Amino acid sequence: MEKVVIIGTGCAGLTAAIYTARANLTPLVLTGTLPGGLLTTTSIVENFPGFPEGVDGTELMLRMQQQAEKFGARIRFGTVEAVDLSRQPYTLTVDGEPVQTQTIIIASGASPRHLGLESEHRLEKKGVTYCATCDGALPVFRNQPLVVVGGGDSAAEEALYLTRFGSVVYLVHRRDQLRASKIMAERVLAHPKIKPVWDSVVTEILDVQQDKVTGVRLKNLKTGTESELACAGVFIAIGHVPNTALFRGVMDMDEAGYIRPRQGTATNVPGVFVAGDCADRVYRQAVTAAGMGCAAAIDAERYLAAQNA
Ligand code: NAP
Repeated sequence: MEKVVIIGTGCAGLTAAIYTARANLTPLVLTGTLPGGLLTTTSIVENFPGFPEGVDGTELMLRMQQQAEKFGARIRFGTVEAVDLSRQPYTLTVDGEPVQTQTIIIASGASPRHLGLESEHRLEKKGVTYCATCDGALPVFRNQPLVVVGGGDSAAEEALYLTRFGSVVYLVHRRDQLRASKIMAERVLAHPKIKPVWDSVVTEILDVQQDKVTGVRLKNLKTGTESELACAGVFIAIGHVPNTALFRGVMDMDEAGYIRPRQGTATNVPGVFVAGDCADRVYRQAVTAAGMGCAAAIDAERYLAAQNA
């Protein structure tokens, strides 16, 4: 039986792994479908303390993993399919196999939010993407007009990154002001290749008939005017939804699906702790996720010590 199973290998999960490994709890760390978490889908991380020149997101996560493994964490590629939290020890089903554990740290993160359009769904991976760093360099996008949807830091980051490849990057935002941090907003608005399209939403991605992206249909929310914009790619960056479906009905969560911790990182289920983007709708930073991962590890360690005392 495991002492600690950590679900997720983003900043929260791997920091929890470093701390629980150093506490000799030899945690089992399950990667989920995106090993390394969301930071592996960004380029340079400029605000993680200790890296004045910035650090590549994937490199940062690999280093965290190495650090956790050095102290005895076991990383397993696998996805949790089911959880039974009705009796202790708890049982997780991981790729068809049961795993029993005394404690769980849920650090399952969040996934990109979709616009919810039928055409978006039909053209996903055919020009519609949720990750500029993953897909931006594809030949189909080179020297072509591209569209980024959103007005937050993610959209700003994606738009700036895509200026390396696209001929022009249209930033389509539903308001006339960016939500992104001041420094990112200033960079975006000053960039000669980025053209903001304010007060507008994408109502359809074209062209399902041709089975590839050729443009977007837009609606101006202030004037009601509809228009079309030709482009070869649509990069959607409109925030994230927490990866908590597995725990619905069992864990206490808010209406958006963020798990609500009770005291520190402890949840409504004894011995189950939570950290990172799956429990944080406010800060959602790499460093705050890492901080929560540390706190969850300490909480789990104290819980185990009290159980075994
Ligand atoms: P976000 O801050 O929640 O921004 C989401 C954006 O998408 C908002 O501008 C929102 O519009 C828009 N939006 C939401 N739903 C939409 C819809 N259905 N249709 C059209 N537009 C929609 O999300 P984020 O940019 O992913 O950032 C999440 C967190 O990560 C933030 O705390 C951010 O600071 C952080 N982050 C930081 C960095 C960095 O420091 N470099 C990079 C990436 C992310 P409204 O503005 O009208 O609400």
